[in-house]
Amino acid sequence: IDVPPRVVGRTRVGVMGGTFDPIHHGHLVAASEVAAVFDLDEVVFVPTGQPWQKAGKKVSHAEHRYLMTVIATASNPRFSVSRVDIDREGPTYTIDTLKDLHAQRPDSDLFFITGADVMSEILGWHGAEQMWDLANFVGVTRPGHELTVPDGARGVTLMEVPAMAISSTDCRERVADGKPVWYLVPDGVVQYIAKYGLYQPAPDKTGGPT
Ligand code: ATP
Ligand code: MG
Repeated sequence: IDVPPRVVGRTRVGVMGGTFDPIHHGHLVAASEVAAVFDLDEVVFVPTGQPWQKAGKKVSHAEHRYLMTVIATASNPRFSVSRVDIDREGPTYTIDTLKDLHAQRPDSDLFFITGADVMSEILGWHGAEQMWDLANFVGVTRPGHELTVPDGARGVTLMEVPAMAISSTDCRERVADGKPVWYLVPDGVVQYIAKYGLYQPAPDKTGGPT
């Protein structure tokens, strides 16, 4: 695959955006693999604020998602977590994420990492025309989704990563059903979910017996 060459004096920073509700090993393997192949100095995980694609769906509080992301990435010296999206008012648009990170790190080349499901939607994103100048895009394989470069996209590289048939949706459903999420998410995240009772089925508000 075509890895853009390293530019002297510039660091290479991966950007992994996501809802991370919860973060799981699919996210972590993708980030680690892209970091190795693209010779990245750092990967910044960026939990979304209010995700516009998921408007109307119930998403856990941003601070829970942020803290789970911190817990999951803490042991990797090259992984970090940014609050830019959760601290910005309003729905999260990737164009704003890239602009903020670019302003914070003017000496870095950004590599925005997405799974195959997101890669296919990317051209429909608000500000898509400007995005190509702010970052390189790396689309990674994801089980159940076809990985292709959308027509009209620029600076996109596709890459195969170890197949992890894990989604946050499935993790949430498992917790709600009382099934284990051990080994799907990092141990600390399993414990965090239990500690705060995340993803439990909604309490019955009718007051009747369940
Ligand atoms: P949800 O089911 O709630 O949508 P998700 O598992 O898709 O959660 P997101 O936070 O939506 O996780 O995804 C963040 C990014 O990580 C997206 O670019 C997505 O395509 C990618 N991604 C998520 N899971 C995987 C996986 N198992 N393999 C590769 N990429 C993944
Ligand atoms: Mg998703």
